[in-house]
Amino acid sequence: MEGEKVRRRVIMAGEEMKPLTEARREVLSAMNRLPVIEPPLERAQGLALAADVVAPHPVPSFANSAMDGYAVRVADVAHPPVVLKISEDVPAGSVASGSVVAGQVIKIMTGAPMPAGAEAVVKVEDTEPLAGGKVRIMSSVPMGTAVRPAGGDLEEGQLVLPAGARLGPVHLGVLATIGVANPKVRRRARAAVLSTGDELFPLDSPTLPPGGIRDSNRPLLKGLLAELGVEILDMGIIPDQEEVLRSALLEASDRADITVTSGGVSMGEYDLVKHVLSTLGNIQMWKVAMQPAKPFAFGHINGTPLFGLPGNPVSALVAYEQFVRPSLLKMMGSQAVYRPRIPAAAGHDLRTNPLKTVFVRVVVQMENGRVVARSSGGQGSNVLSAAAYADGMAVVPVGVDVVAEGETVEVEMLRSPETRSEDEVPDE
Ligand code: AMP
Ligand code: MG
Repeated sequence: MEGEKVRRRVIMAGEEMKPLTEARREVLSAMNRLPVIEPPLERAQGLALAADVVAPHPVPSFANSAMDGYAVRVADVAHPPVVLKISEDVPAGSVASGSVVAGQVIKIMTGAPMPAGAEAVVKVEDTEPLAGGKVRIMSSVPMGTAVRPAGGDLEEGQLVLPAGARLGPVHLGVLATIGVANPKVRRRARAAVLSTGDELFPLDSPTLPPGGIRDSNRPLLKGLLAELGVEILDMGIIPDQEEVLRSALLEASDRADITVTSGGVSMGEYDLVKHVLSTLGNIQMWKVAMQPAKPFAFGHINGTPLFGLPGNPVSALVAYEQFVRPSLLKMMGSQAVYRPRIPAAAGHDLRTNPLKTVFVRVVVQMENGRVVARSSGGQGSNVLSAAAYADGMAVVPVGVDVVAEGETVEVEMLRSPETRSEDEVPDE
Protein backbone atom coordinates (compact mmCIF):
# COMPACT_ATOMS: atom_id res chain seq x y z
CA MET A 1 0.00 0.00 0.00
CA GLU A 2 2.87 2.35 0.70
CA GLY A 3 3.92 2.51 -2.93
CA GLU A 4 6.67 4.50 -4.58
CA LYS A 5 4.48 7.57 -4.69
CA VAL A 6 4.56 8.05 -0.95
CA ARG A 7 8.32 7.98 -0.82
CA ARG A 8 8.42 11.70 -1.43
CA ARG A 9 9.11 13.76 1.63
CA VAL A 10 6.12 15.25 3.31
CA ILE A 11 6.23 18.83 4.52
CA MET A 12 3.81 19.88 7.21
CA ALA A 13 3.81 23.15 9.12
CA GLY A 14 7.30 23.83 7.89
CA GLU A 15 8.77 20.59 9.24
CA GLU A 16 10.20 17.85 7.15
CA MET A 17 9.14 14.30 7.96
CA LYS A 18 10.82 11.10 6.87
CA PRO A 19 8.47 8.64 5.16
CA LEU A 20 8.04 5.51 7.28
CA THR A 21 9.26 3.10 4.60
CA GLU A 22 12.44 5.14 4.17
CA ALA A 23 13.01 5.34 7.92
CA ARG A 24 12.50 1.60 8.30
CA ARG A 25 14.85 0.83 5.42
CA GLU A 26 17.53 3.08 6.86
CA VAL A 27 17.26 1.48 10.30
CA LEU A 28 17.22 -2.09 9.00
CA SER A 29 20.21 -1.58 6.72
CA ALA A 30 22.25 -0.45 9.74
CA MET A 31 21.74 -3.78 11.53
CA ASN A 32 24.44 -6.47 11.51
CA ARG A 33 23.75 -10.15 12.04
CA LEU A 34 24.86 -11.67 15.33
CA PRO A 35 27.36 -14.56 15.57
CA VAL A 36 26.46 -18.18 14.90
CA ILE A 37 26.25 -20.60 17.82
CA GLU A 38 25.35 -24.29 18.09
CA PRO A 39 23.25 -24.63 21.25
CA PRO A 40 21.48 -27.81 22.33
CA LEU A 41 18.27 -28.13 20.32
CA GLU A 42 16.06 -27.49 23.31
CA ARG A 43 17.59 -24.05 23.82
CA ALA A 44 17.14 -23.02 20.18
CA GLN A 45 13.46 -22.10 20.27
CA GLY A 46 12.88 -18.62 18.84
CA LEU A 47 16.32 -18.53 17.20
CA ALA A 48 16.85 -18.51 13.43
CA LEU A 49 18.84 -21.06 11.46
CA ALA A 50 22.15 -19.74 10.13
CA ALA A 51 22.42 -22.45 7.44
CA ASP A 52 20.09 -24.64 5.40
CA VAL A 53 19.21 -27.95 7.04
CA VAL A 54 19.18 -30.94 4.67
CA ALA A 55 17.83 -34.39 5.54
CA PRO A 56 20.80 -36.72 6.23
CA HIS A 57 18.56 -39.78 5.74
CA PRO A 58 15.04 -40.51 4.57
CA VAL A 59 12.16 -40.05 7.02
CA PRO A 60 10.78 -42.52 7.82
CA SER A 61 14.11 -44.28 7.40
CA PHE A 62 12.32 -47.64 6.90
CA ALA A 63 8.88 -48.61 5.58
CA ASN A 64 6.60 -49.24 8.55
CA SER A 65 3.03 -49.96 9.48
CA ALA A 66 0.55 -47.08 9.86
CA MET A 67 -1.85 -49.29 11.85
CA ASP A 68 -2.02 -52.02 14.42
CA GLY A 69 -2.98 -55.10 12.37
CA TYR A 70 -1.58 -57.85 10.18
CA ALA A 71 1.10 -57.62 7.49
CA VAL A 72 -0.19 -59.64 4.54
CA ARG A 73 0.40 -60.64 0.94
CA VAL A 74 -2.38 -58.99 -1.07
CA ALA A 75 -3.29 -62.15 -2.99
CA ASP A 76 -3.86 -64.09 0.27
CA VAL A 77 -6.66 -61.75 1.36
CA ALA A 78 -8.24 -61.10 -2.06
CA HIS A 79 -11.38 -63.16 -1.22
CA PRO A 80 -12.36 -62.55 2.41
CA PRO A 81 -13.17 -63.88 4.85
CA VAL A 82 -10.06 -66.02 4.97
CA VAL A 83 -8.26 -67.75 7.85
CA LEU A 84 -4.48 -67.39 7.93
CA LYS A 85 -1.73 -68.50 10.30
CA ILE A 86 0.17 -65.89 12.37
CA SER A 87 3.86 -66.66 12.01
CA GLU A 88 5.12 -64.03 14.50
CA ASP A 89 4.43 -60.72 16.32
CA VAL A 90 6.37 -57.49 15.66
CA PRO A 91 5.88 -54.66 18.14
CA ALA A 92 7.25 -51.15 17.38
CA GLY A 93 11.00 -51.13 17.96
CA SER A 94 11.43 -54.76 16.82
CA VAL A 95 12.20 -56.34 13.47
CA ALA A 96 10.49 -59.49 12.20
CA SER A 97 12.85 -62.47 12.14
CA GLY A 98 11.13 -64.04 9.14
CA SER A 99 9.17 -62.84 6.14
CA VAL A 100 5.50 -63.08 5.18
CA VAL A 101 5.06 -66.23 3.11
CA ALA A 102 1.97 -67.50 1.24
CA GLY A 103 -0.88 -68.43 3.59
CA GLN A 104 0.65 -66.64 6.59
CA VAL A 105 0.58 -63.19 8.17
CA ILE A 106 2.75 -61.35 10.71
CA LYS A 107 1.00 -59.47 13.50
CA ILE A 108 2.35 -55.91 13.43
CA MET A 109 2.01 -52.78 15.54
CA THR A 110 2.00 -49.13 14.40
CA GLY A 111 5.53 -47.99 13.59
CA ALA A 112 7.05 -51.49 13.35
CA PRO A 113 9.13 -52.14 10.20
CA MET A 114 7.32 -53.89 7.37
CA PRO A 115 8.57 -57.49 7.20
CA ALA A 116 10.04 -58.81 3.95
CA GLY A 117 7.33 -60.20 1.67
CA ALA A 118 4.54 -58.06 3.20
CA GLU A 119 2.60 -55.92 0.74
CA ALA A 120 -0.04 -54.25 2.92
CA VAL A 121 -1.46 -54.13 6.43
CA VAL A 122 -5.02 -55.16 7.32
CA LYS A 123 -6.06 -53.14 10.35
CA VAL A 124 -6.98 -55.04 13.48
CA GLU A 125 -10.60 -53.81 13.32
CA ASP A 126 -11.06 -55.86 10.12
CA THR A 127 -9.90 -59.09 11.72
CA GLU A 128 -11.00 -61.67 14.32
CA PRO A 129 -8.50 -63.53 16.48
CA LEU A 130 -8.88 -67.33 16.44
CA ALA A 131 -7.46 -70.09 18.63
CA GLY A 132 -4.30 -71.92 17.60
CA GLY A 133 -2.32 -68.91 16.40
CA LYS A 134 -4.68 -68.05 13.57
CA VAL A 135 -6.67 -64.98 12.50
CA ARG A 136 -9.74 -64.42 10.34
CA ILE A 137 -9.20 -61.57 7.85
CA MET A 138 -12.51 -59.90 6.99
CA SER A 139 -11.46 -57.51 4.21
CA SER A 140 -9.21 -57.37 1.18
CA VAL A 141 -6.67 -54.55 0.80
CA PRO A 142 -4.92 -52.95 -2.18
CA MET A 143 -1.09 -53.01 -2.35
CA GLY A 144 0.53 -50.59 0.09
CA THR A 145 -2.51 -50.14 2.33
CA ALA A 146 -1.57 -48.75 5.76
CA VAL A 147 2.13 -48.77 4.89
CA ARG A 148 4.24 -45.64 5.45
CA PRO A 149 6.98 -45.83 2.83
CA ALA A 150 10.60 -44.91 3.57
CA GLY A 151 11.15 -41.25 2.59
CA GLY A 152 7.42 -40.51 2.60
CA ASP A 153 7.93 -37.54 4.94
CA LEU A 154 11.41 -36.38 3.85
CA GLU A 155 13.73 -37.75 1.21
CA GLU A 156 17.45 -38.03 1.83
CA GLY A 157 19.14 -34.77 0.72
CA GLN A 158 15.91 -32.79 0.70
CA LEU A 159 15.95 -29.20 2.04
CA VAL A 160 14.13 -29.47 5.36
CA LEU A 161 14.39 -25.88 6.66
CA PRO A 162 16.13 -22.94 4.98
CA ALA A 163 18.61 -20.57 6.61
CA GLY A 164 16.63 -17.77 8.22
CA ALA A 165 13.77 -19.98 9.46
CA ARG A 166 12.86 -19.07 13.04
CA LEU A 167 12.54 -22.20 15.11
CA GLY A 168 9.22 -22.87 16.80
CA PRO A 169 8.23 -26.00 18.69
CA VAL A 170 7.27 -27.93 15.56
CA HIS A 171 10.61 -27.09 13.92
CA LEU A 172 12.36 -28.47 17.01
CA GLY A 173 10.43 -31.71 16.55
CA VAL A 174 11.44 -31.95 12.89
CA LEU A 175 15.11 -31.28 13.70
CA ALA A 176 15.03 -33.94 16.41
CA THR A 177 13.59 -36.41 13.88
CA ILE A 178 16.67 -36.03 11.69
CA GLY A 179 19.14 -36.01 14.56
CA VAL A 180 20.10 -32.33 14.63
CA ALA A 181 21.15 -32.05 18.28
CA ASN A 182 23.01 -28.74 17.95
CA PRO A 183 21.48 -26.58 15.20
CA LYS A 184 23.54 -23.73 13.74
CA VAL A 185 21.59 -20.63 14.74
CA ARG A 186 22.34 -16.99 15.46
CA ARG A 187 22.55 -16.13 19.11
CA ARG A 188 19.95 -14.20 21.06
CA ALA A 189 20.32 -10.45 21.01
CA ARG A 190 20.80 -8.73 24.33
CA ALA A 191 18.81 -5.52 24.67
CA ALA A 192 19.33 -2.84 27.32
CA VAL A 193 16.05 -1.17 28.29
CA LEU A 194 15.69 2.07 30.18
CA SER A 195 12.97 4.61 30.85
CA THR A 196 13.73 8.31 31.14
CA GLY A 197 11.76 10.91 33.03
CA ASP A 198 11.61 12.52 36.48
CA GLU A 199 7.87 11.83 36.63
CA LEU A 200 8.36 8.04 36.53
CA PHE A 201 8.18 5.69 39.50
CA PRO A 202 8.67 1.94 39.62
CA LEU A 203 5.77 -0.39 40.13
CA ASP A 204 6.80 -1.20 43.70
CA SER A 205 6.88 2.39 44.97
CA PRO A 206 4.33 2.54 47.79
CA THR A 207 2.97 5.97 46.88
CA LEU A 208 3.12 8.36 43.96
CA PRO A 209 3.87 12.03 44.60
CA PRO A 210 1.70 14.66 42.91
CA GLY A 211 2.48 14.60 39.21
CA GLY A 212 4.14 11.19 39.45
CA ILE A 213 3.12 8.23 37.28
CA ARG A 214 4.09 4.58 37.10
CA ASP A 215 6.65 3.51 34.53
CA SER A 216 4.57 1.40 32.15
CA ASN A 217 6.95 1.41 29.20
CA ARG A 218 9.54 -0.85 30.80
CA PRO A 219 7.18 -3.76 31.51
CA LEU A 220 5.66 -3.23 28.06
CA LEU A 221 8.99 -3.21 26.24
CA LYS A 222 10.45 -6.04 28.29
CA GLY A 223 7.39 -8.12 27.49
CA LEU A 224 7.74 -7.41 23.77
CA LEU A 225 11.44 -8.29 23.89
CA ALA A 226 10.77 -11.47 25.85
CA GLU A 227 8.33 -12.57 23.13
CA LEU A 228 11.21 -12.46 20.67
CA GLY A 229 13.46 -14.48 22.94
CA VAL A 230 15.75 -11.50 23.46
CA GLU A 231 17.90 -11.35 26.59
CA ILE A 232 17.05 -8.26 28.62
CA LEU A 233 19.33 -5.95 30.55
CA ASP A 234 16.93 -3.86 32.64
CA MET A 235 18.57 -0.55 33.47
CA GLY A 236 15.57 0.86 35.27
CA ILE A 237 14.33 4.43 35.40
CA ILE A 238 16.89 7.09 34.64
CA PRO A 239 16.12 10.55 36.00
CA ASP A 240 16.45 13.64 33.82
CA GLN A 241 20.00 14.33 34.99
CA GLU A 242 22.69 14.73 32.40
CA GLU A 243 25.52 12.74 34.02
CA VAL A 244 23.30 9.88 35.19
CA LEU A 245 21.77 9.53 31.76
CA ARG A 246 25.11 9.73 30.00
CA SER A 247 26.69 7.01 32.10
CA ALA A 248 23.60 4.78 31.79
CA LEU A 249 23.68 5.07 28.00
CA LEU A 250 27.41 4.34 27.88
CA GLU A 251 26.97 1.31 30.11
CA ALA A 252 24.05 0.09 28.01
CA SER A 253 26.02 0.40 24.77
CA ASP A 254 28.90 -1.43 26.35
CA ARG A 255 26.92 -4.36 27.76
CA ALA A 256 24.17 -4.90 25.19
CA ASP A 257 23.74 -5.43 21.45
CA ILE A 258 21.09 -2.71 21.26
CA THR A 259 19.78 -0.03 23.59
CA VAL A 260 16.09 0.83 23.78
CA THR A 261 15.10 3.97 25.65
CA SER A 262 11.75 5.66 26.00
CA GLY A 263 10.90 9.28 26.63
CA GLY A 264 12.66 12.54 26.06
CA VAL A 265 12.68 12.67 22.28
CA SER A 266 9.49 14.61 21.60
CA MET A 267 9.19 18.10 20.21
CA GLY A 268 8.61 20.56 23.00
CA GLU A 269 10.56 18.35 25.38
CA TYR A 270 13.05 19.77 27.81
CA ASP A 271 15.80 18.51 25.58
CA LEU A 272 18.11 16.80 28.05
CA VAL A 273 17.82 13.36 26.48
CA LYS A 274 18.30 14.80 23.01
CA HIS A 275 21.27 16.83 24.21
CA VAL A 276 22.95 13.85 25.87
CA LEU A 277 22.30 11.62 22.85
CA SER A 278 23.80 14.21 20.54
CA THR A 279 27.02 14.29 22.57
CA LEU A 280 27.40 10.50 22.67
CA GLY A 281 27.70 9.39 19.10
CA ASN A 282 26.08 9.70 15.73
CA ILE A 283 22.47 9.80 16.85
CA GLN A 284 19.88 11.61 14.80
CA MET A 285 16.54 12.95 15.91
CA TRP A 286 13.94 11.91 13.38
CA LYS A 287 10.43 13.06 12.65
CA VAL A 288 8.85 10.10 10.94
CA ALA A 289 5.64 10.63 8.96
CA MET A 290 3.74 8.21 11.16
CA GLN A 291 1.07 8.46 13.82
CA PRO A 292 1.52 7.74 16.61
CA ALA A 293 5.28 7.84 17.22
CA LYS A 294 6.48 10.70 15.07
CA PRO A 295 9.55 11.59 17.17
CA PHE A 296 12.21 8.91 17.21
CA ALA A 297 15.96 8.90 17.81
CA PHE A 298 18.20 6.47 16.01
CA GLY A 299 21.92 6.00 15.81
CA HIS A 300 24.89 4.29 17.43
CA ILE A 301 26.89 4.73 20.62
CA ASN A 302 30.28 3.00 20.33
CA GLY A 303 28.88 0.88 17.51
CA THR A 304 25.80 -0.23 19.45
CA PRO A 305 22.48 0.76 17.85
CA LEU A 306 20.27 2.97 19.98
CA PHE A 307 16.52 3.29 19.55
CA GLY A 308 15.10 6.32 21.35
CA LEU A 309 11.37 5.64 21.47
CA PRO A 310 8.81 8.31 22.36
CA GLY A 311 7.50 8.35 25.92
CA ASN A 312 3.79 7.98 25.33
CA PRO A 313 3.19 4.26 25.81
CA VAL A 314 1.25 3.67 22.58
CA SER A 315 3.88 5.59 20.65
CA ALA A 316 6.58 3.47 22.29
CA LEU A 317 4.66 0.33 21.27
CA VAL A 318 4.15 1.42 17.65
CA ALA A 319 7.75 2.61 17.23
CA TYR A 320 8.95 -0.65 18.75
CA GLU A 321 6.83 -2.60 16.27
CA GLN A 322 8.00 -0.65 13.25
CA PHE A 323 11.69 -0.28 14.07
CA VAL A 324 12.95 -2.35 16.99
CA ARG A 325 11.24 -5.67 16.35
CA PRO A 326 12.28 -5.98 12.68
CA SER A 327 15.81 -4.88 13.62
CA LEU A 328 16.15 -7.53 16.30
CA LEU A 329 14.79 -10.20 13.99
CA LYS A 330 17.31 -9.21 11.33
CA MET A 331 20.18 -9.25 13.87
CA MET A 332 19.11 -12.68 15.03
CA GLY A 333 19.17 -13.92 11.43
CA SER A 334 15.47 -14.28 10.73
CA GLN A 335 14.43 -14.21 7.08
CA ALA A 336 10.99 -12.78 7.87
CA VAL A 337 11.16 -9.61 9.93
CA TYR A 338 7.75 -8.02 9.50
CA ARG A 339 4.43 -8.95 11.05
CA PRO A 340 1.82 -10.29 8.64
CA ARG A 341 -0.61 -7.78 7.16
CA ILE A 342 -4.03 -8.98 6.12
CA PRO A 343 -6.76 -7.16 4.20
CA ALA A 344 -9.84 -6.30 6.25
CA ALA A 345 -13.03 -4.33 5.70
CA ALA A 346 -13.38 -1.22 7.86
CA GLY A 347 -16.30 -1.82 10.24
CA HIS A 348 -16.88 1.94 10.42
CA ASP A 349 -15.27 5.07 8.98
CA LEU A 350 -11.64 5.41 10.06
CA ARG A 351 -10.65 9.09 9.99
CA THR A 352 -6.92 9.61 9.83
CA ASN A 353 -4.19 12.10 8.97
CA PRO A 354 -3.36 12.11 5.23
CA LEU A 355 0.16 13.41 5.86
CA LYS A 356 1.22 10.37 7.85
CA THR A 357 1.05 6.59 7.88
CA VAL A 358 -1.52 6.11 10.61
CA PHE A 359 -1.72 3.02 12.80
CA VAL A 360 -5.26 2.53 14.11
CA ARG A 361 -5.48 -0.02 16.88
CA VAL A 362 -8.25 -2.41 15.91
CA VAL A 363 -10.16 -5.50 16.92
CA VAL A 364 -10.72 -7.89 14.01
CA GLN A 365 -13.37 -10.52 13.59
CA MET A 366 -14.86 -12.70 10.89
CA GLU A 367 -18.27 -11.53 9.70
CA ASN A 368 -20.10 -13.09 6.76
CA GLY A 369 -16.92 -14.64 5.43
CA ARG A 370 -14.69 -11.60 5.65
CA VAL A 371 -12.40 -10.01 8.18
CA VAL A 372 -13.81 -6.80 9.65
CA ALA A 373 -11.68 -4.31 11.60
CA ARG A 374 -13.05 -1.87 14.18
CA SER A 375 -11.30 0.60 16.46
CA SER A 376 -10.40 -1.02 19.78
CA GLY A 377 -11.04 2.24 21.66
CA GLY A 378 -9.38 5.59 22.27
CA GLN A 379 -6.70 6.30 19.69
CA GLY A 380 -4.69 8.79 21.75
CA SER A 381 -1.01 7.89 22.08
CA ASN A 382 -1.45 7.70 25.85
CA VAL A 383 -4.43 5.30 25.75
CA LEU A 384 -2.62 2.03 26.36
CA SER A 385 -5.76 0.14 27.45
CA ALA A 386 -7.24 0.33 23.94
CA ALA A 387 -3.97 -1.01 22.53
CA ALA A 388 -4.28 -3.94 24.93
CA TYR A 389 -7.71 -4.79 23.49
CA ALA A 390 -6.39 -4.62 19.90
CA ASP A 391 -5.67 -7.64 17.72
CA GLY A 392 -3.73 -5.51 15.28
CA MET A 393 -3.15 -2.12 13.77
CA ALA A 394 -4.93 -0.94 10.62
CA VAL A 395 -2.25 0.74 8.51
CA VAL A 396 -3.72 3.75 6.72
CA PRO A 397 -1.25 5.06 4.14
CA VAL A 398 -0.16 8.62 3.45
CA GLY A 399 -2.63 10.39 1.19
CA VAL A 400 -5.75 8.84 2.73
CA ASP A 401 -7.81 10.92 5.13
CA VAL A 402 -10.66 8.50 5.66
CA VAL A 403 -11.17 4.80 5.12
CA ALA A 404 -14.93 4.60 4.65
CA GLU A 405 -16.98 1.82 6.23
CA GLY A 406 -16.70 -1.29 4.06
CA GLU A 407 -13.51 -0.21 2.31
CA THR A 408 -10.47 -2.44 2.52
CA VAL A 409 -7.57 -1.59 4.80
CA GLU A 410 -4.46 -3.62 5.66
CA VAL A 411 -4.20 -4.78 9.26
CA GLU A 412 -0.83 -5.57 10.76
CA MET A 413 -1.66 -8.41 13.12
CA LEU A 414 -0.22 -8.24 16.64
CA ARG A 415 -1.83 -11.48 17.80
CA SER A 416 -4.38 -14.01 16.64
CA PRO A 417 -7.83 -12.88 17.66
CA GLU A 418 -9.43 -15.00 20.33
CA THR A 419 -12.89 -15.59 19.02
CA ARG A 420 -14.48 -18.45 20.92
CA SER A 421 -14.33 -20.04 24.32
CA GLU A 422 -13.46 -23.72 24.54
CA ASP A 423 -17.05 -24.90 25.10
CA GLU A 424 -18.19 -23.21 21.89
CA VAL A 425 -15.68 -25.09 19.74
CA PRO A 426 -17.63 -27.62 17.68
CA ASP A 427 -16.54 -31.26 17.72
CA GLU A 428 -14.41 -32.15 14.73
P1 AMP B 1 8.27 12.37 26.70
O1 AMP B 1 8.46 11.68 25.40
O2 AMP B 1 9.38 12.12 27.67
O3 AMP B 1 7.97 13.83 26.51
O4 AMP B 1 6.98 11.74 27.34
C1 AMP B 1 5.72 11.85 26.70
C2 AMP B 1 4.65 11.35 27.62
O5 AMP B 1 4.86 9.99 27.90
C3 AMP B 1 4.59 12.05 28.97
O6 AMP B 1 3.25 12.15 29.35
C4 AMP B 1 5.33 11.10 29.86
O7 AMP B 1 4.97 11.23 31.22
C5 AMP B 1 4.93 9.78 29.31
N1 AMP B 1 5.94 8.76 29.57
C6 AMP B 1 7.25 8.87 29.32
N2 AMP B 1 7.89 7.75 29.70
C7 AMP B 1 6.95 6.91 30.22
C8 AMP B 1 7.00 5.62 30.80
N3 AMP B 1 8.15 4.94 30.89
N4 AMP B 1 5.85 5.07 31.22
C9 AMP B 1 4.68 5.75 31.11
N5 AMP B 1 4.58 6.97 30.57
C10 AMP B 1 5.70 7.57 30.15
MG1 MG C 1 10.25 12.80 29.44
